[in-house]
Amino acid sequence: MNEFELIARYFTRAVHERRGVGDDCALIDVGDRTLAITTDLLTEHVHFFPGTDAASLGHKALAVNLSDLAAAGARPRCFLLSISLPRADPVWLDAFSRAMFELAAREGCELIGGDTTRSPRIAGQDGPVTVCITAIGEVERDRLRGRDGARPGDDLWVSGELGDAALAVAHGLGQVPLDEAAARACRQRLDWPLPRVALGLALRGLASAAIDVSDGLVGDLGHLLERSGVGARVHAQDVPRSDTLRRIERALQQRCVLAGGDDYELLFTASPDHRVVIEAAGRRCCVAVTRIGRMTAEPGMRWVGDGGIDATLGGFDHFAGAA
Ligand code: ADP
Ligand code: MG
Repeated sequence: MNEFELIARYFTRAVHERRGVGDDCALIDVGDRTLAITTDLLTEHVHFFPGTDAASLGHKALAVNLSDLAAAGARPRCFLLSISLPRADPVWLDAFSRAMFELAAREGCELIGGDTTRSPRIAGQDGPVTVCITAIGEVERDRLRGRDGARPGDDLWVSGELGDAALAVAHGLGQVPLDEAAARACRQRLDWPLPRVALGLALRGLASAAIDVSDGLVGDLGHLLERSGVGARVHAQDVPRSDTLRRIERALQQRCVLAGGDDYELLFTASPDHRVVIEAAGRRCCVAVTRIGRMTAEPGMRWVGDGGIDATLGGFDHFAGAA
């Protein structure tokens, strides 16, 4: 059973709320407002290397949630923080909270609650740091956007560049040598992702569907196609990537760009009529937006160019290969 089968089988029920499991955010109507709610858990050893700098963790724990709000076109409003720590280290906590509040202030959302526990020592070892943030935003009811609105003929777009965060992980695991400047640049993308909140808002009424790329392009595009009931023809070589990544050998480069994860860019679809407006929105939000393919009525993903793609590439799955 993989992660998504697990969620579908055990944690998915029909809901009376506007939108439940299956999108980047759940949506609930409260009076004449619609709230978008999302939660993401970061666990040491799984989501970040032990010893990861506290400031980057404080930033990232909030950023990954704001990225889900961005996908839904929601304006961040507030968030809850649940945290489990092996010890109360003032230096660590100061750096963590400072970076988290810096991003919160920049994106206009406030910490309104949470929970704090100590993680247990097991066999003389510190327990892991675990951080779970739940973010709440507001969406306009007449411009709701999920993963399910893509139509055949729509363009497929992606913001920014993909793959650098995955390259940083590969480097961290000793799988690829990088010079110091390249390693630092990739590590920046891994540790300090910039949630595309402004672009997400600018795409309201333009993008027919969107998802944030957190588990790799192939996997996340798969979720969008499945929810929308369409297919896609994608140009592998058009998927934007950094110069650092272009210098890496092809197989690893392709793995990072298409199946890496931790990109926190927006993957979205829109009618070709909106091309000029979308490019202008990207410029206004200071983020590149690139067309990488076309949605098709025929289901499935077809990769063209770049000699096709490695058929084993898929999205990140926490339970892949587990019993
Ligand atoms: P994202 O990457 O955007 O955070 P995921 O891929 O982790 O989303 O999750 C897919 C969908 O499943 C989302 O709609 C999420 O809210 C839902 N989901 C994940 N885990 C659970 C759970 N334990 N219970 C209910 N819903 C869940
Ligand atoms: Mg998401």
